[in-house]
Amino acid sequence: MICGFCGHEFDENESKHGCGGCPGGCHSVHCPRCNYKNPLEPAFIGKLKNLLQRKTSPGAKDAENSEDKKSKTS
Ligand SMILES: [Zn+2]
Ligand SMILES: [Zn+2]
Repeated sequence: MICGFCGHEFDENESKHGCGGCPGGCHSVHCPRCNYKNPLEPAFIGKLKNLLQRKTSPGAKDAENSEDKKSKTS
């Protein structure tokens, strides 16, 4: 992840967990460079972002309009 303070990119698993300095237990990811307390991002949020970024292809409605309905009865 990328530190929200200094922009340093680091592996979430390499960061400090349980720094002992956060009240009520450490539930954040501390930047190894500036020790900024980044909020821990749940995994499902990343999946949601991927879903939002996925572009939906435009509908294939034109296939139905290829044939004109000739219902003229003389
Ligand atoms: Zn940082
Ligand atoms: Zn902490």
